[in-house]
Amino acid sequence: RLSVRNLRKSFGTHEVLKGISLDAQDGDVISLLGASGSGKSTFLRCINLLETPSDGEVWVDSEQIRMIHSKTGSKPASRRQVDHIRSELGMVFQGFNLWSHMTILQNVIEGPLHVLKRPKADCIADAEELLAKVGIADKRHAYPAHLSGGQQQRAAIARALAMKPKVMLFDEPTSALDPELVGEVLRVMRALAEEGMTMLVVTHEMSFARNVSNRVVFMREGVIDSSGSPDDMFGVGASPAFRQFIGHFG
Ligand code: ATP
Ligand code: MG
Repeated sequence: RLSVRNLRKSFGTHEVLKGISLDAQDGDVISLLGASGSGKSTFLRCINLLETPSDGEVWVDSEQIRMIHSKTGSKPASRRQVDHIRSELGMVFQGFNLWSHMTILQNVIEGPLHVLKRPKADCIADAEELLAKVGIADKRHAYPAHLSGGQQQRAAIARALAMKPKVMLFDEPTSALDPELVGEVLRVMRALAEEGMTMLVVTHEMSFARNVSNRVVFMREGVIDSSGSPDDMFGVGASPAFRQFIGHFG
């Protein structure tokens, strides 16, 4: 489904990702953990080509994104491949990134209507279903500023799902939220996982990593230090570095 081979990314002389390989099969829910600066966000941004990898391969389904390398930098081989990758991947960021001048419903239908060019009535019907699913159907005509952070993040999830992605990427979706709002977003993510959505989740929520994901990947200084099932990773199989990392979370 999603396959990353030996991905590298440098900013100037600073090599942030030093050869990362990761495979996600259908229905995998992978928690990506690591200290600040270990390269988690850069990794997600390279997967959907918000950053151009310096080297390596990204495959979504059987489509490979090839990079063209030159002295002046790297770029994807074709715009079509980039569009393809982006259409298969949904992304939810730490900040909610909703369009502030649009209602929640307009935010959710924007992509399906203007990018996928689907009929408006279908877009609205789908959006209403998604908003009900994330528990904010009553907010569909409100503007983002009138929603709580948790509601905005659930709207952002609905907006990503409206594009019918095959894989969802989350970058610390709950870390900007007040503690009392974290649970409502995690519940939506858990429901998505239980429906079989393939998910790659950067998170500091250890309960999510342990109880919802089926694989835990620990990044350290631009490499994958260790990975495995939650039972292995949180059990006796943990690497010393991971053990030390989770020690900070009590
Ligand atoms: P956090 O947990 O704080 O979000 P992270 O694991 O997501 O950290 P990244 O944001 O991927 O880490 O950053 C990894 C390293 O890459 C950091 O040293 C950062 O300063 C550097 N970096 C990230 N983006 C850029 C950029 N656009 N230009 C230069 N350096 C960058
Ligand atoms: Mg980050």
